[in-house]
Amino acid sequence: MGAQAAAAELAVKLLRLSSIALAALLIGAAPPSPRPTEGPAAERIHAHVEFLASDLLEGRDTGSPGHEIAANYVASQFRQLGLRPGGTNGSWFVRVPFRKATIKDTPKVSLKDKGRTTVLVVGRDVGLRPSLTDQRISVEAPMVFVGYGISDRRLGIDDYSNLDVRGKIAVGLGGPAPGIPSEIASHLGSAQAEVAAAHGAIGFIAIDDPTSAAQDVQRYSKRPVTDWVGRTSSIKVRAVFSPQLADRIFEGAPVPLRRIRAQATARKPIKGFNLPSRLSVSAESEWKDFSSPEVVAILPGSDPRLAGDHIVLTGHLDHLGLKASAKPGEDNIYNGALDNAAGVATLIEAAHEFVQSGKRPRRSVMFVANTGEEIGLRGADYLAVHPTVPADSIVGLVDLDMPLLLYDFTDVVAFGSDHSTIAKAVAAAGKGMGVRVSPDPMPDETLFVRSDHYPFVKRGVPAVFLMTGFANGGQQIWRRWLDDTYHSVKDDLSQPIRWQQGARFAELNYRIARTMADADQRPMWYAGDYFGETFAPAQPKARR
Ligand SMILES: [Zn+2]
Repeated sequence: MGAQAAAAELAVKLLRLSSIALAALLIGAAPPSPRPTEGPAAERIHAHVEFLASDLLEGRDTGSPGHEIAANYVASQFRQLGLRPGGTNGSWFVRVPFRKATIKDTPKVSLKDKGRTTVLVVGRDVGLRPSLTDQRISVEAPMVFVGYGISDRRLGIDDYSNLDVRGKIAVGLGGPAPGIPSEIASHLGSAQAEVAAAHGAIGFIAIDDPTSAAQDVQRYSKRPVTDWVGRTSSIKVRAVFSPQLADRIFEGAPVPLRRIRAQATARKPIKGFNLPSRLSVSAESEWKDFSSPEVVAILPGSDPRLAGDHIVLTGHLDHLGLKASAKPGEDNIYNGALDNAAGVATLIEAAHEFVQSGKRPRRSVMFVANTGEEIGLRGADYLAVHPTVPADSIVGLVDLDMPLLLYDFTDVVAFGSDHSTIAKAVAAAGKGMGVRVSPDPMPDETLFVRSDHYPFVKRGVPAVFLMTGFANGGQQIWRRWLDDTYHSVKDDLSQPIRWQQGARFAELNYRIARTMADADQRPMWYAGDYFGETFAPAQPKARR
């Protein structure tokens, strides 16, 4: 909404207010509250966020009672709207079996080369990640440098060619590989351990830039790791090396690490080789198993030919819980009002719009409030692997994550829409509401691979994720918010949230999902698109 429209809206509000005041005067009642009403959709969004972000829910941490209460609230809203349960056994929920692993005692790690054994100090030389698959690990294996550890037919890159990592520990450069578009590089970065496993490695160690490596070594072993139970991998050792240790393991190697870093900066190709030393690791992990719900509802489609397809609308309900490091008397609740109570409120409001339209969508629509997003998109990943409808019936997805409802947005960024025909649905919806679709203003943040739609993208589902744009002051507000409030206890109800913007954001996402659900054709990846060709090779593609 532009300044002109905002002024018009204000005028209407003042008019409404003054006529109410006049009426009150006439009947001699108490004057009305000074806060102008924002319309029923804004009030609904306000109500959802007010409940979900309240202190009572204690930050909705995955597996916490607060998150369970939040999940019941969402299920209750879904029932009230007349949706059908879409979880397991006719329920509203898919309970995700989680495991949290923590390193137990002090692991023994040493480096063996030329007959020497060097005992390494965990937390100083090396950071070790707890294991979710092996409670006890005892390995000793040679190490192989694998460059960026990329093995990708589409890009024509195979860092593993001429290398044998079977039964060995792969050592790869962390961070996005230079010269590859940021979203793809980020995807490849997150898949490094999987790729190593596919080549038979039993370990993967990332060599990061010296600054982040020093931090990671301290943090890594202390930080618990949580994932759903049932994933298998040949990878037993995940670790990071301190900058000093990284230099050390390249001593006597064909190329020193200093030169490799220089080659990376100069975007020169980097070749792998066997490293001269072996790594010995003996460690134990402590496990805590628990479960946490995904909330799933379905609005059945009306067209007998298309109702078997599902368009998914999703948003994460979990947040960061309680702040352990807070001092007594300090705010210790990560309320997550915008991240992501606001997204879930948008989800419920979009469901409301589908129902209120009085016209069922042609395709079925699935509404999902996720768990485990903040610990690595784990709930969405579980559901993508264990869907409650046939996997190939999920034909498109709209993700709702962290709408910044602090200004009157006039544009949006639609992550993912340039990969598929969803772009058309986004453009049409935007046009209908006078909202521009802008290009990604922060490509280095690679948001396309950082929210709950991504596990579905990896299973071939075209997806989109909208962010309120940088126009009309958005840029400054985003920057400040990301610096100051994001993932802090300040993301609470004391922020000047503009509920009417929540209503607009819901309307926009509803229109996008509606277009996808009603179109003759299901959303299609564009021919030649990296993600479509990689994850949905057999699906028909569209021309740009
Ligand atoms: Zn978050």
